[in-house]
Amino acid sequence: MAAETHVFQTKVSKLLKLLANSLYSNKEVFLRELVSNASDAIDKLRFAAIAKPELLGSDPVFSIRISADKEAGTLTVSDNGIGMTLEEANEHLGTIAQSGTEDFLEHLSADEAKNAQQIGQFGVGFYSSFIVADRVTVVSRAATAGENEAVRWESDGSGTFTSELTTRASRGTDVILHLRDEDKNFLDPWTLRETITKYSDHISTPVYLLEEKPAEEGKTPEKDWVQVNDAKALWTLPPKEVTDDQYKEFYKHLTHDWEDPLCWAHNRVEGDLEYTSLLYCPSVAPYDLYNRDLQKGLKLFVERVFIMDRADAFLPNYLRFIKGLVDTNDLPLNVSRELLQESRVAAKLKKALTRRALDMFAKLADDKEKYGVFWTQFGRVLKEGIVEDPDNKKAILGLLRFATTKAGASDITVSLADYVSRMPEGQKNIYYVIANTPEAAEGSPYLEGLKKKGVEVLLLWERIDEWMMGALTEFDGHKFIPATAADLELEGVKAKSDDAEKPSETSKEEDDKAVARFKAALGEKVADVRVSDRLVDSAACVVGQHDQMLTEQMRRMLEAAGQTVPEEKYTLEVNLESPLVKKALAENDPARFSEWADVILDQALLSEQGSLKDPAGFVKRLNALLLS
Ligand code: ADP
Ligand code: MG
Repeated sequence: MAAETHVFQTKVSKLLKLLANSLYSNKEVFLRELVSNASDAIDKLRFAAIAKPELLGSDPVFSIRISADKEAGTLTVSDNGIGMTLEEANEHLGTIAQSGTEDFLEHLSADEAKNAQQIGQFGVGFYSSFIVADRVTVVSRAATAGENEAVRWESDGSGTFTSELTTRASRGTDVILHLRDEDKNFLDPWTLRETITKYSDHISTPVYLLEEKPAEEGKTPEKDWVQVNDAKALWTLPPKEVTDDQYKEFYKHLTHDWEDPLCWAHNRVEGDLEYTSLLYCPSVAPYDLYNRDLQKGLKLFVERVFIMDRADAFLPNYLRFIKGLVDTNDLPLNVSRELLQESRVAAKLKKALTRRALDMFAKLADDKEKYGVFWTQFGRVLKEGIVEDPDNKKAILGLLRFATTKAGASDITVSLADYVSRMPEGQKNIYYVIANTPEAAEGSPYLEGLKKKGVEVLLLWERIDEWMMGALTEFDGHKFIPATAADLELEGVKAKSDDAEKPSETSKEEDDKAVARFKAALGEKVADVRVSDRLVDSAACVVGQHDQMLTEQMRRMLEAAGQTVPEEKYTLEVNLESPLVKKALAENDPARFSEWADVILDQALLSEQGSLKDPAGFVKRLNALLLS
């Protein structure tokens, strides 16, 4: 059969171009990818051989072999794994299967540097060979194929590849890289050995390098296969024996991420439930963390045999950013995804691994700087856990970090324990405010009185916050109370300054009269009017019937989801000490006072909701007052 020419899938060509432009500073990763593929191919065969031991034939000992040929300028990575048929080679080496990579390629930005950085998050995989090679030849024979059913695949990485049938004496794959001149340093024994060792240390299959033995005078040097790793799966080693660098390298092997992980937890548990787990938290959130088709889940091993990738039955959705593996003897080797969903062992493991992950973060909190990174990258997702995982609410509460009126909106580092430890004497509750933006939260008029009393308030502005606070009732015996609540329950808080306790300038009688005038003017537009004790500078604010008022954004979301949201009537709280309210009350003409009252109500609604039903009417009334 003559070699057939095929055109790469458009995506592949795009990826190849991008690789050429972006990976030059990190060239050696191609070796990680090739060793990783060889190891995957062996894992696949090991798994297939459980059901069909005859697949191993006369070649039952797995190995990965790497050799350099200086004369030919080639580097070859070989394995005796599952191999590929001609069709498989065309398919797997001509397309991109991973939906993540595809997505990424579709959203390439104009910023090449950024693309280069991001591409590290995806398995560029086999195609990374073209970073250092101007031609790549793959000779492969599937474990099920005969001697003459092997495939020879070749490409210069510029848009097409060829493939044809060939012969190979035994099953497995050779990937032969014809190195570019400027990349021939990878043929250097020392460089090669160092790089290979780095990328194969944690691989459970022996990796051999063909090395020259020192030659005797006048003789051509002999070559020898030297094993460069100890071929023990890293997670099976006692944690004490594993170095940080080994953990980091293993993470990169598992995830294709080029960044170091932020932290990890390695546990070997014996007893009722036996398992080994190695969980990692990345240091950068994947860009598709909020996509439904995010690739999530752990690698599953049973009795050290690789069973499946992305098994998502072992962690709750709010921990979907965690990477790693679990190895257990308590599941059958033939376990399927469907079986996992119903398995009691899987459910138990999920519970245990969730704890492990939350513990890992609790430990990370000791390192302020790293925890800051964690919170910025994953805090928002973790908040989902408050609603999703009531059993672990307590642990998650301890992990939350907030911006507060004391720390400022840009400093999201206050834990609830910090908050409680510095409450002024007599404060019983934890106060919070939810707004649409950090600025709106910080500037909320509802905070004025609380600030003056020295009461710290949690500032919240993320979409998830409303759901989260809805699921939170208390922390350590302290109730959560929104600053917009009708009753702030502030009795007993020792004021910070005498100023806050200053008796009001007006008499009770005057207050009642003022309130009555507002009530008369506003009529049905409000549920009630009362004198505010929470405002200092602002003229007025509105308070709902319920503790938690719906923000306008939430109202719109609910309405968009087809729910009828009852129109809420607010109570207007007025600040009789405010110059604006004083000015309004000085107006004796009822019609004109009514304009004032409307403007004051609209102002209060505007600060609370961020929008008004009739903004034009508001502007008109305001202008009339400004001009009078
Ligand atoms: P990934 O490993 O993430 O699937 P790669 O680009 O690294 O992506 O590899 C693409 C596919 O090519 C693999 O999924 C596998 O099917 C096939 N492949 C690559 N290398 C080998 C190999 N050494 N033996 C068998 N199949 C391989
Ligand atoms: Mg790969």
